[in-house]
Amino acid sequence: MKKFIAWQIGPSLLIGALGLLLLIGLIGGGNQQTLRSETASGGSICSPSGDYDKDKIDEVLERAGAFKGKRAAFEHASAKHNVDPVLMIAISIHETAWGTSRALLEHNNPSGQMRGNQIIHFDSLEDGLEMTGQTLNNLWNERGLNTIEKLGSAYAPVGAGNDPTNLNIHWVPTIHKFIEELGGLSGGCEGESVEGDLITGADGFVVPMKNFTITSHYGPRWGAFHRGIDLAAPEGEPIYAAKDGIVTRSEYHFSWGNYVTITHEGGATTLYAHNQRNVATVGQKVKQGELIAYMGNTGHSTGPHLHLELCLDNSLAQDRLVDPYPVFFGNK
Ligand SMILES: [Zn+2]
Repeated sequence: MKKFIAWQIGPSLLIGALGLLLLIGLIGGGNQQTLRSETASGGSICSPSGDYDKDKIDEVLERAGAFKGKRAAFEHASAKHNVDPVLMIAISIHETAWGTSRALLEHNNPSGQMRGNQIIHFDSLEDGLEMTGQTLNNLWNERGLNTIEKLGSAYAPVGAGNDPTNLNIHWVPTIHKFIEELGGLSGGCEGESVEGDLITGADGFVVPMKNFTITSHYGPRWGAFHRGIDLAAPEGEPIYAAKDGIVTRSEYHFSWGNYVTITHEGGATTLYAHNQRNVATVGQKVKQGELIAYMGNTGHSTGPHLHLELCLDNSLAQDRLVDPYPVFFGNK
């Protein structure tokens, strides 16, 4: 009987603990940790180039308890799980009351991850960040909760039964403030474009990278069929939308690695594969020249490059593919 009661009240105790954690977070994030940058708009800023401000991040982490000096650990976990490092840092700071919560100090658990009614114990901060990355990837990329507001509705729902004092109402504005303080997200700037800097091809397409070497052409290759063209560059080179369109895929594939597809007006679809990290999310409207991913070496790839395909429709069927070269570079 005792056990049964314990099981029954377990979740509400936990919820209380989470609330307390949030409360501590708010107090901890209050006076002496006052954020210095408050923009008039109140919205989070973002980086159209996809960069993030490493100096600002280091500055913030310096006063974030156990996260001090841990930027590389955040970068590693966020790259692996295709989430914005700035987002991961902002949430981790909030959930751990500036790197001081017991969950973090005793369990290496930066985001309050629970199993049943137990806070999950990790052997290292790296392991804890790994799980945080997985969770954020699931919410942001797979479930499409790809704004702070949408994420907050799942992470800290306002009016939830487990939030009697309405602390969750602070989650979204607090995360926004932290993101600002950290120098802004590394992507998600709607309408920003570097279109003018990109090589113009035919049919309104531009070459989706600024710096590259063509290393492989479309057609039969090594007894197989190469479905696109390969553009090599050092890892991390930004990849831009070749034309306005809607992002129809942004996910991992065993062969393409992290890849994005954009379906353009009329149905033609471009595919960008082997990315280090995807920035664009499914359903997002992108403008030509807008950052969509960083070039990488994921999936079946023998070196950093962009594998670029052009399909007449969104099927990606081999008999609907066309040689991208004449479209992007003309019949030279
Ligand atoms: Zn290729």
